Amino acid sequence: MNKSDSERVRTVVEAIGYRWTDNEQEANLLGILACSVRQKSIDKVYSRIHKWNSWKNQRNLITFVSGCILPTDREKFLKQFDLIFEMRELPQFADMLSQYGVLNPASYIHDKLQFVESDKEETDKPGFDHLHLSVREKTGNGLKPLIHRPEEKIKDFWHVKPTYHSTYEAFIPIQNGCDKFCTYCAVPYTRGREVSRPSGEILDELKELVNIGYKSVTLLGQNVNSYGMDKNGTEMTFPALLRKIGEYGKISGKDFWIYFTSPHPRDMTDEVIEVISQYKCLAKQIHLPLQSGDDKVLTKMNRNHSTADYRRIIHLIRKTVPEATIFTDIIVGFAGETDEQFENTRSAMQELRFNMAYIAKYSPRPGAASSRWNDDVPAAVKSARLHSLTRELTRHTLDYNMKLTGKRLKVLVTGKDRKEGYLSALTEGKIVLRFKSDDEILIGKFAEVMIESATEFALGAKFIGKIITEKV
Ligand code: SAM
Ligand code: SF4
Repeated sequence: MNKSDSERVRTVVEAIGYRWTDNEQEANLLGILACSVRQKSIDKVYSRIHKWNSWKNQRNLITFVSGCILPTDREKFLKQFDLIFEMRELPQFADMLSQYGVLNPASYIHDKLQFVESDKEETDKPGFDHLHLSVREKTGNGLKPLIHRPEEKIKDFWHVKPTYHSTYEAFIPIQNGCDKFCTYCAVPYTRGREVSRPSGEILDELKELVNIGYKSVTLLGQNVNSYGMDKNGTEMTFPALLRKIGEYGKISGKDFWIYFTSPHPRDMTDEVIEVISQYKCLAKQIHLPLQSGDDKVLTKMNRNHSTADYRRIIHLIRKTVPEATIFTDIIVGFAGETDEQFENTRSAMQELRFNMAYIAKYSPRPGAASSRWNDDVPAAVKSARLHSLTRELTRHTLDYNMKLTGKRLKVLVTGKDRKEGYLSALTEGKIVLRFKSDDEILIGKFAEVMIESATEFALGAKFIGKIITEKV
């Protein structure tokens, strides 16, 4: 989600007149899109801003933070960053900067978005320092930040055209926020309530991407399969949206894979699975977070489904879309999780045979309901549980991957591999592989390969040929 948000931030920042640099040391505007899901990522934000603030007496530097921020961190960030805003306020970023004394070159250039560097040109403009200082003076002291809180308008944010980071893979946000309030989770407090993006906009963005050759597009949301439910029947449902996309794939004759993440087991209807099985462009890979394999823990997490409900969905996927790979998320060491409850998660993993599991140690999030409960599973036990589940996972992935050897598969070539003379690629089920080739023209294209070897998390393959299936 942050990767996708950053593509819109980049568009706005460049439209203001800044030019991108890969060198943090020379930037005049530095920002972070924070993630509050676990404490570790927030700790990184604190260490970064500490470093950036130490550079401030050497050069003109403005810092900002946005993304998912919990109220307690917001209070602290206010003292450390110059600007703090919600993602939905992004379209007002230029105003925020101009209040900070940064002139907006785009306003001189009018419609023509020709970008100029912010440092020399901007700081050399007469009045820059004066404005900069006067704004600081108005705030009372040099450290106090300016806060700009326009109306909450996520729609304006979605209207910002992203500066895509790739030429073949893209993310389309279809929804923002979450109404589920799982007891461990920061999202409802950082991103607010669920808002679905109009389906017309989603389809337009998708068609535009596919038309210019994008091959892998992921529909994004915290609860993608509750899409439309906030609109009281005035918007289509998630399976209807998938069906529309599937029909477009069929009629257009274009070759692409559509993914979505994350769906919630509670809203995973049979219809969603049925639709995936019916259309070639709907990729046969499903990410369905389990979180725990113990019913008592699931209730305490407020997941509102049982392990039996989850198992039923997985069985239906295996029956209806047998070729689909299944990914999941698991939290180990949730408040009060006993050895026996953890064992239930381990046996669920053994039974359900996931292709990938993002396993996280429970991290209490201030403000979320579980933060009031004792975080009583010792760190060493959390680590041991994580390793135990990883071992369980790799047993299945190795077994699954080994069965792919000797098969011919269609893959999407994603870039140069770390191994010299090799390219890396992804199967439709998102299993990583590499094959010998230095033909960089293949990057971003579909190819056919023969699987020759397998490890727990990757495949080795031989290149067969480029795939051209699209109508011309
Ligand atoms: N909406 C998705 C769902 O309902 O499963 C998940 C979105 S959540 C932002 C991404 C993942 O982060 C979760 O599936 C969970 O495994 C993990 N996560 C969330 N809160 C956590 C916490 N407090 N400690 C550890 N992991 C957490
Ligand atoms: Fe967080 Fe639960 Fe919402 Fe997922 S469904 S974003 S875990 S509150």
